[in-house]
Amino acid sequence: MSELIADRNCKQDLVEVKHLVKYFPVRSGLRQRITAWVQAVDDVSFTIKAGETLGLVGESGCGKTTVGRTILRLLEPNSGSVYFEGQDVLSLRGPELKVMRRSMQIIFQDPYSSLDPRKQIGECIAEGLHIHKIGTPSERRNTVMELIRKVGLEDYHTKRFPHEFSGGQRQRIGIARALALQPKFIIADEPVSALDVSIQAQVLNLLRTLQDDFNLTYLFIAHNMSVIEHISDRVAVMYLGKIVEIAQTRELFNNPLHPYTVALLSAVPVPDPRLKKERVILRGDVPSPLNPPSGCRFHPRCPQVMHDICPIKEPPHKEVESDHWVACWLYE
Ligand code: SF4
Repeated sequence: MSELIADRNCKQDLVEVKHLVKYFPVRSGLRQRITAWVQAVDDVSFTIKAGETLGLVGESGCGKTTVGRTILRLLEPNSGSVYFEGQDVLSLRGPELKVMRRSMQIIFQDPYSSLDPRKQIGECIAEGLHIHKIGTPSERRNTVMELIRKVGLEDYHTKRFPHEFSGGQRQRIGIARALALQPKFIIADEPVSALDVSIQAQVLNLLRTLQDDFNLTYLFIAHNMSVIEHISDRVAVMYLGKIVEIAQTRELFNNPLHPYTVALLSAVPVPDPRLKKERVILRGDVPSPLNPPSGCRFHPRCPQVMHDICPIKEPPHKEVESDHWVACWLYE
């Protein structure tokens, strides 16, 4: 499938994810036997070009964050493969994995929980440099100062503690921390979801500027379609552990094909009262990933379900327009 949904322009793939599967065991009883599996990520494939931002969007609990953490090996997948610059990430162990981790960093939704409250911010940012034994103490100090200015904070902030900062400032610190090891690839996991709207725009613009300055590649995870539209070059839409549609951002927003993408986009407010938009209301809640629906996982909520095929057979990915892939029987 990854071969199918790979982008075809000439830039090189930096990240390639193939048939990624991550199930979490559910244990119960006195002996804590495995009684079921949460199918968080099920056969997910995509590529990300060098310098590109791929937006990964879907409702809470659809498996977006699990995809990001599995790529970085913060979680071990059940099967599938992840390639970074052509190197098999899942086969790396010990020192090789440590070296690889310098090139791949993560920005968390809640930077406060990833900062040690007893350490000054300067120390927090320099932590990765210490772990990887990069530079002399004065070189590390200079690097921290450069980064703190780069993310729009002041030199004196390095002496302060995490609780002395606002949410937006903490996210800037999280970004500086991710940049300290000069990564090529950053997974931004809902980096603006917890921020006020005005601060969201500032952090998104900062991420864009840094992408140009440092030639970064992003996997940008979010549930907000407007944020995804603002930052992404391409967008992958996830539903219940699977990617259902992937396309260039403009193409996806102008011409959504999968009924789930259509429903997501119909909920995005339009800042023009003269434009009337028909809202697609989906039936019911997202089913449990413990026992996902058969065939197309979206079929119990789909307004266009075809009962003779959708609940029976899983739709394959198909390139319906140039570089626009969708998994839906409507397009077979
Ligand atoms: Fe709806 Fe069927 Fe398409 Fe699934 S495959 S999105 S149920 S029409």
